[in-house]
Amino acid sequence: MQKLWQLELNKFLAICIGGGFLGWSIGEPWAGAFFGLFLYVGWLLLNIKELATWLENPALDNTPEASGLWGKVLNGIYRNHKKQQSKVKKLKKTIEISRLSTNAIRDAVVLINPDNTLEWWNKAAKHYLGLRRSTDRNHLITNLLRDPEFVSYFESGEYRNGINISSPVNASITLHVTLSYYSRTNRILIARDVTHLHHLEQMRKDFVANVSHELRTPLTVIKGYIETFLDLITPDENAGLHRGLSQVQQQTERMEVLVNDLLLLSKLEIGSSNILLKPVDIAVLLQQIYHDADIVNDEKQHQITLTIEDHSILLGNVAELHSAFSNVIFNAVKYTPPNGQIAIRWWEDSKGAYLSVIDNGVGIDPIHIPRLTERFYRADPSRHAKTGGTGLGLAIVKHVLRHHEGVLDIQSTPGEGSNFTCHFPSRQLISP
Ligand code: ADP
Repeated sequence: MQKLWQLELNKFLAICIGGGFLGWSIGEPWAGAFFGLFLYVGWLLLNIKELATWLENPALDNTPEASGLWGKVLNGIYRNHKKQQSKVKKLKKTIEISRLSTNAIRDAVVLINPDNTLEWWNKAAKHYLGLRRSTDRNHLITNLLRDPEFVSYFESGEYRNGINISSPVNASITLHVTLSYYSRTNRILIARDVTHLHHLEQMRKDFVANVSHELRTPLTVIKGYIETFLDLITPDENAGLHRGLSQVQQQTERMEVLVNDLLLLSKLEIGSSNILLKPVDIAVLLQQIYHDADIVNDEKQHQITLTIEDHSILLGNVAELHSAFSNVIFNAVKYTPPNGQIAIRWWEDSKGAYLSVIDNGVGIDPIHIPRLTERFYRADPSRHAKTGGTGLGLAIVKHVLRHHEGVLDIQSTPGEGSNFTCHFPSRQLISP
């Protein structure tokens, strides 16, 4: 570089001094030197013009040619331009591949700007969500997907679990929609067609609901007859038959509880969101259940305490809440050996209201805790014959809490006891 610069300087000086000598021969050395300078600047301007023309349309096959320092400058520009062009080519290829691949995805993919407007979407989004490139770009997503459930999911900012909604284009299509952040402020929406799964799930729910419903009548008839037979046959007359009938009666009652729990669970799954929520006086409800628990407690003689720290009015469904709270409290009675201690406590704080049921019973191994709210899941199947549960209690609790926007927290240590806490958010509470 230094060498080229030196050569260029020499060239410049040679032209000016040469011009000066020529001018000297006619008695005008300065005019000659100035003429040399003029020639050099002219040559420079010509080169600049050539470069400017090439930059207007920088094709690689007609690059301007020059030598020396100027050639070096041109070479540098040419090389940078070549690099730039290959980068652009690669970038275009990458964009094309991502465009083709996202269009090949069967799920709808939508990119959402920080101001909640639509940035981009793939072909499937057009099919499932009815988005049109010509009109919908930069429109608010909540103006295009107006399903109230989606709007509240979108606005909640809590995207861990997706939601199911009907496609705005075709109501018979069920979509599972999930949102997530792909940068600090930009979100991506993915909608998957789950119509088939939804139908299967619906069939399962309908089947369970219908079977449970159909089983109720025969069970009532069987129960009625057995009661009559038991009245007719005293143990003294026929001890064996009386014992057998008593066992049939016990099993029929268990079956009735199971059928009732299945029916309740089906109702909660199918239609609980349609049930109107009304103000529920929690103190009155807990007193009732406490009283019932005391009756059940007769055999085990636990020490049960009820502490109501805040007189809360909860927006809810009293029958559902009764069922959920009873399940948690009666479980504590069931899974605590005789003479245990059970503390029932209701209180409020800035985040909402809580019901905690703490026992010093058998406890639960931590590996079972995440699955306890599944239907028929039991931490210790060998024990359930003795306790006589249906395995549906905590599934009912989970559904009821979900209906009331609440959550169930389970803490337990095997051999020491358990703490079941139902948490309801503040928005479910009404000031007395
Ligand atoms: P179940 O009818 O068997 O009681 P649930 O759904 O109510 O069914 O409870 C599921 C399982 O959770 C129970 O089988 C039991 O193993 C465990 N469980 C529930 N509550 C308690 C508790 N207070 N202490 C220990 N284990 C419990």
